Amino acid sequence: MTELNESYDVVVIGGGAAGLNGALMLVRQRRSVLVIDAGAPRNAPADGVHGLLGREGMPPLELVALGREEVRGYGGHVVTGEVVAVDRVGDSASTDSPGNDDDSREFRVELADGRSVFARRILVTTGLADELPPIAGLRERWGHDVLHCPYCHGWEVRDQRIAVLATGPMAVHQALLFTQLTDDIVFLSHTAPATDEDAEKLAARGVRVVDGEVVEVLADGGKLSGVRLADGTVIDRDALVVGPRFSTRATFLTDLGLTPEPHPSGVGDHIPADPMGRTSVPGVWIAGNATDPMAQVGAAAAAGAMAGAQINAELVMADTAAAVERLRASEGAAVTG
Ligand SMILES: Cc1cc2nc3c(=O)[nH]c(=O)nc-3n(C[C@H](O)[C@H](O)[C@H](O)COP(=O)(O)OP(=O)(O)OC[C@H]3O[C@@H](n4cnc5c(N)ncnc54)[C@H](O)[C@@H]3O)c2cc1C
Repeated sequence: MTELNESYDVVVIGGGAAGLNGALMLVRQRRSVLVIDAGAPRNAPADGVHGLLGREGMPPLELVALGREEVRGYGGHVVTGEVVAVDRVGDSASTDSPGNDDDSREFRVELADGRSVFARRILVTTGLADELPPIAGLRERWGHDVLHCPYCHGWEVRDQRIAVLATGPMAVHQALLFTQLTDDIVFLSHTAPATDEDAEKLAARGVRVVDGEVVEVLADGGKLSGVRLADGTVIDRDALVVGPRFSTRATFLTDLGLTPEPHPSGVGDHIPADPMGRTSVPGVWIAGNATDPMAQVGAAAAAGAMAGAQINAELVMADTAAAVERLRASEGAAVTG
């Protein structure tokens, strides 16, 4: 088991695109950094990462393995593990009052294996969980021919026979986006039939609407072959588009006062933060899908990098204010002495 320091400048919780890019920024500023990662990036089921400049099509786990090595190359620690709790153990005002430079034990981070470390700052990048519709045979095909995002794998199913499963109002939007990629789309009304206005849009773009509840996703020879409706009707298809509910994987922050809130888009929940990644709790930062469910890999990495840079700046200012206080104290002592 990797030996950990007792404390770090920053503990990064989650080592996907956001966490590793945040860590990379920090280690290159000579910060001591620990990345704790459970090893299951959200896109792990997919064959490749798409839409990412310079790494187009790279397998997701290969991308994070490269990132881990880059962070380690600058002296960062990266360990596999799951964080179960984060407590503030220092003076809760210290991250607000930059004069306090003795904040090396501000937070205590606890791992599932019983280990714990201290940190001055926390960067949370644990991503989100995709809650899939509970239909037989669907989960097994997730990330392959059951998909959600035209930008991630739309190209891979271009010109195929696609069905869009309607579980919410976003399904119409998804169906319309996929018309850019194929002429053969079936809109499965399932639990969210289209409004008259939306049905007109679908008809105008040549999307066929099929009413009825979907009860099973069918496969043949290791590939999706269609869906079965409750009345037994089988619709032959090559791919199925679904709309998961996005659920942030940062519930261990509740004791710090950070609870997931509904995301304004209505697609699930998240932990709110400002554009730099600063949460409402001083010293706790967040980036990637844990706060922004819409972020793809490039956007998650960029948000992690931004948060990393901001954390470094905050620590520099805290250390500077503390140094000024010490200087003044020593000058005052010299005068009175
Ligand atoms: C099937 C699928 C395919 C996709 N394809 C693409 C694509 O082609 N291109 C693209 O740009 N985007 C794609 N995406 C979106 C992409 O997955 C996300 O944009 C990206 O993963 C977000 O990065 P992140 O760092 O925020 O989170 P993640 O990559 O999910 O990383 C979070 C990490 O934190 C870890 N973690 C979670 N909880 C804990 C804990 N308590 N303690 C320690 N570690 C923890 C997880 O194990 C994981 O390793 C796809 C998504 C899906 C679902």
